Amino acid sequence: MKIPNRIVLKLNADWSPHQMTPWQETIPLLLEGVVRTVTATGMEEDEEIYRWDDGSPILIRSGPGEDGVTPKVTIRMPAIVILRDYVSVSRKRKLSPSRHNIFQRDSYCCMYCKADDEVLTIDHVWPRSKGGLTEWGNVVSACGRCQSQKRDRTLEEMRHSVTWNGKPFRLQHTPTEVRQGGIARFVYRTNRANLCWLRYLPNWQTMAPRIGKGHLIEEFERFEENLLVGACDPEYDEEERTIKEDPDEGITEAGDQDRVARVERGVQTGRRRR
Ligand SMILES: [Zn+2]
Repeated sequence: MKIPNRIVLKLNADWSPHQMTPWQETIPLLLEGVVRTVTATGMEEDEEIYRWDDGSPILIRSGPGEDGVTPKVTIRMPAIVILRDYVSVSRKRKLSPSRHNIFQRDSYCCMYCKADDEVLTIDHVWPRSKGGLTEWGNVVSACGRCQSQKRDRTLEEMRHSVTWNGKPFRLQHTPTEVRQGGIARFVYRTNRANLCWLRYLPNWQTMAPRIGKGHLIEEFERFEENLLVGACDPEYDEEERTIKEDPDEGITEAGDQDRVARVERGVQTGRRRR
């Protein structure tokens, strides 16, 4: 049995995005009553979904069970869960304006000519030779053509110039800082399989284009139009696999694909209600 490598969005009790957890870690939390499933229509009582006909809880385990038997059972994989109890949140951590982070923020486009198929470099808006610092507000993605045209001049000095493809030589967006712990990391992990996450990510539309996920805006519109309420495509293989650097520190990858979920019958997990 092959199980999609699903990451579940975990909301804090105040409905703010809290963490992303692999499904293998999420299902036990559901069974223990630490979290509840969220659907587009609101909350859903997990005990109705995750119980056998006789009312005993279903326990999901990864790895082989002791008896070697895998009973067939249908479990709806949650895309979003919410914590019953509020967990206090540490402050957002700073990210460094590394090449990778800057390219991500700028959607792998040149910030001067908008080209997205040119080899990119990092440009200091206020040139280093004039004391410009490598900080979020002063570094942008730029194609080689624009950078060699601008060299160590300021934008003020470039104001009468046009780029190689005829655009006024100025920034397409004001460069801003991206922080870990902000919305970015959740938006970053959103794909066609979990578009419903976006409902719970404030201001994601502003963030998405900056981190190379601008396509989500159109996809989410279609998703809402089609009224695919809470729907997720379990066959969808996450495209994020191809991205080398994962901004989500502290998030464990959802185990290898071949991991088998085994279901054991009649094991009491004991609900913890607080
Ligand atoms: Zn350019």
